[in-house]
Amino acid sequence: MEEEKKIKKPRGVAHLIPGKCIACGARCQSDCPEDAIEMNDRGEPIINLDKCIGCRRCVKICPAQALEIYFTPEEQKILAAMAEKVPQKAEAVETGIKEYRGVWIFVEHTEGKPATVSWELLGEGAKLAKTLGVKLCSLVIGDHVEHLCQESFAYGASKVYLIDGPVFHHYRTETYYRAICYLVEKYKPEILLMGATGLGRDLAGAIATKLRTGLTADCTGLDIDEKGYLLQTRPAFGGNIMATILTEKTRPQMSTVRPNVMALAKRDASRTGVIIRESMDIKEEELATRVIEVIEDATGEQLDLAGAEIIVSGGRGMCGPENFGMLQQLADELGGAVGCSRAAVEAGWMPPERQVGQTGKTVRPKIYIACGISGAIQHLVGMQSSDVIIAINQDKKAPIFEVATYGIVGDVFQVIPAMIDQIRELKAKKGGSSDTVSHRKE
Ligand SMILES: Cc1cc2nc3c(=O)[nH]c(=O)nc-3n(C[C@H](O)[C@H](O)[C@H](O)COP(=O)(O)OP(=O)(O)OC[C@H]3O[C@@H](n4cnc5c(N)ncnc54)[C@H](O)[C@@H]3O)c2cc1C
Repeated sequence: MEEEKKIKKPRGVAHLIPGKCIACGARCQSDCPEDAIEMNDRGEPIINLDKCIGCRRCVKICPAQALEIYFTPEEQKILAAMAEKVPQKAEAVETGIKEYRGVWIFVEHTEGKPATVSWELLGEGAKLAKTLGVKLCSLVIGDHVEHLCQESFAYGASKVYLIDGPVFHHYRTETYYRAICYLVEKYKPEILLMGATGLGRDLAGAIATKLRTGLTADCTGLDIDEKGYLLQTRPAFGGNIMATILTEKTRPQMSTVRPNVMALAKRDASRTGVIIRESMDIKEEELATRVIEVIEDATGEQLDLAGAEIIVSGGRGMCGPENFGMLQQLADELGGAVGCSRAAVEAGWMPPERQVGQTGKTVRPKIYIACGISGAIQHLVGMQSSDVIIAINQDKKAPIFEVATYGIVGDVFQVIPAMIDQIRELKAKKGGSSDTVSHRKE
């Protein structure tokens, strides 16, 4: 069949409506980008139709609405035909997206060890699925990963799509995105959520590009509006505003969410569900990449800031790198980890992997102690979901106090040593050590 020839939308040309010009001083002439307007001796425009490109600038600038865009009868017919086609196209889009149903969560794992963010997403996905009245499903891809299906049920999924095979043993963008695109095209979920981890960010971008759908990265809030669209909220413009983004015309609606942003779903090992087993014939020889060796991140073991239950975090108010020692002491007493603000990283006092916030880690500890941190929005988005926030700041108007559960207005160099001494004293009473600490502000 011969392909329908694409017809260009007519732009028309500018036309002076007789009797309306007020000779304002040639504003239309000075605004014309094509030099298509001359003025006559009454101060009225004369349009050069060979030069006019129908850009409408003169029409818009005219203070007397004396100019309009003129279309020939032939052009008017084309415009009328085009106007008729537009609703049909909109209807087609509407019908197309209605075929998509269900909320899917991608279960991220490393050689079968699941990433907690997947279970956090199942918790959030359950709320979305309930509002929409659809099924909550998870997507498990890997090698010998069937145990993750049962775990998905325990965290709330009622159906799992599973692709299991040796070619999926290690994560590779090519194999995983092909498998997920295949499942999405076949089963058509309306929402697909993934963790905003290194793997999730890589994979989500590839999938959204292949499926030509929208993707909102690093969401901090998800909800459903009255029309059933997924409301994807995330910080924008350097974290100064929260933007809510909708994917109206394409499916699935895709979002990534950082670990620790959503609450972990409640695990119930007695839950069961349905496993849909699929296979994909991907041959090793046809792949561009091969995993030769996996080298573990050396910093991972010693510092798991994202997983720490207690975080003692320092900002510019700590005044220097040497003073982070006392934060480490406090963290050690409490069995926690030390974090920091970006100001501390930028000053070279702390390494970037300790930074909490929009461009650092998102944390959700049981206790977050913010020491000498003002509470800029970019810091707050990374820690405000902590169960208990204790803020120590000498400025009682510091924004950190707005999110704090307990606020201590005071000098960190007095408050922190006092806290350490107090904890040690309490421990000593219970039979631990009772060294006294001395701290000094440089
Ligand atoms: C795109 C973008 C991304 C960003 N990402 C992040 C991010 O991921 N994480 C992040 O933290 N920031 C981020 N920032 C930077 C952020 O805007 C702030 O500049 C930063 O968080 C400030 O760090 P701070 O609170 O340590 O320093 P300040 O804002 O300078 O606050 C220092 C605080 O210490 C208090 N203080 C001083 N001395 C004492 C004392 N002796 N005792 C008690 N209190 C004291 C002061 O009253 C003050 O409130 C980002 C900014 C941009 C534009």
